[in-house]
Amino acid sequence: MLTIENTNGNVYTLIGEDGDYSFLHCQRSGQYVVAWRLHEVGEGLYAWEQGHYYKEFLSACDCFVKKCEGADERGGATLKNSKSEMWAKYLRYLCEWVKFHEEAMFYGMSPSCFDDWLCNERQEQGVCPKCGETSLDYDGGAVVEADYVYNWTCQNCGAVGKEHYSMTFEEHTLGDEGKGVIK
Ligand SMILES: [Zn+2]
Repeated sequence: MLTIENTNGNVYTLIGEDGDYSFLHCQRSGQYVVAWRLHEVGEGLYAWEQGHYYKEFLSACDCFVKKCEGADERGGATLKNSKSEMWAKYLRYLCEWVKFHEEAMFYGMSPSCFDDWLCNERQEQGVCPKCGETSLDYDGGAVVEADYVYNWTCQNCGAVGKEHYSMTFEEHTLGDEGKGVIK
């Protein structure tokens, strides 16, 4: 993970970035910062225009998600399904996951990693689940168990995957030569 040094001498871990907002964790104080317009002010030294400070990860996460959502809304509909939106959604998923898995009975469990979560979130025919572009290049297809499966390669991000179609029984039809013949 990327670390940066602030002009006040503190070292921060950069947890996430989205447009003008950065999500930071101060290694010394343990504080979380949702920083607006993080920028380099000197050699390896960073500062931000405005910061929201939190002791709790969840509160900071919530703030970051809201800021990113606000930024998306101001950006208009073109940002729908954008990196901002998906990242904010994933962070919200993580927050929810933490809330519902605090008890010892969930010991050892982990939330979905970003790629798995994203793939599950983006289930649209012809759309790459990784980058959201309609740039899939199909390479034939084959019957696999009860599915018809196409292999694809994304021309935009290079991801490879499979598109599954289920085959269900509809009806019988007779061939012309068999019609009306009773044996
Ligand atoms: Zn892609």
